Amino acid sequence: MARYTGPACKLCRREGKKLFLKGDRCYTGKCAVDKRSYAPGQHGQSRKKTSEYGLQLRAKQTARRYYGISESQFHKYFIMAEKKAGVTGTNLLQLCETRLDNVVYEAGLASSRAQARQLVNHAHFTVNGRRADIPSILLKAGDVVAVKETSAAKDEFKNLIENNASRPIPQWLDVNKDSMQAKVIRTPEREEISTPVEEHLIVEFYSK
Ligand code: SF4
Repeated sequence: MARYTGPACKLCRREGKKLFLKGDRCYTGKCAVDKRSYAPGQHGQSRKKTSEYGLQLRAKQTARRYYGISESQFHKYFIMAEKKAGVTGTNLLQLCETRLDNVVYEAGLASSRAQARQLVNHAHFTVNGRRADIPSILLKAGDVVAVKETSAAKDEFKNLIENNASRPIPQWLDVNKDSMQAKVIRTPEREEISTPVEEHLIVEFYSK
């Protein structure tokens, strides 16, 4: 399935919540959800009763859009999550959280997940010392993500890290901003994941 390339803010308005897809802009008064808190389109302001299926679909779409994952990849994660021990919904979110692009974002090495994905695609990072340019690589405890030496010398990264300095770093990551490295200490607990979604609805969606 082709990746969505339309306006990011439209996705937030469709889901009725901030998905933080545009970095710094999301924290300013320019946020489209703050300005127009209704769905886009001609019927966006009409009141609609959402069916059970609709709620499940919206939960799945919200999570997918939040992490910027395609439908087929997200479904693949669901199947992986189902096979793992533990709670399927939590397993699913943990898989999304431990993607390389998400770790780069959470570590403050990018302003948004979309930017993180682009920087990874452009081969600015290494994982455990080896070049890593696939955003969907799943990381595990002990893995170290670092900005490539040649990239770290560029002002672009120094500015990025400075701009994101106030963003809190999750406790499951150990970030060294001076050496531009982030170590995955462990898999995040559910309460450490801030995805604005009720994952049991996603499980119900795929379990039909
Ligand atoms: Fe979503 Fe950010 Fe756009 Fe607000 S500014 S609507 S949070 S992408």
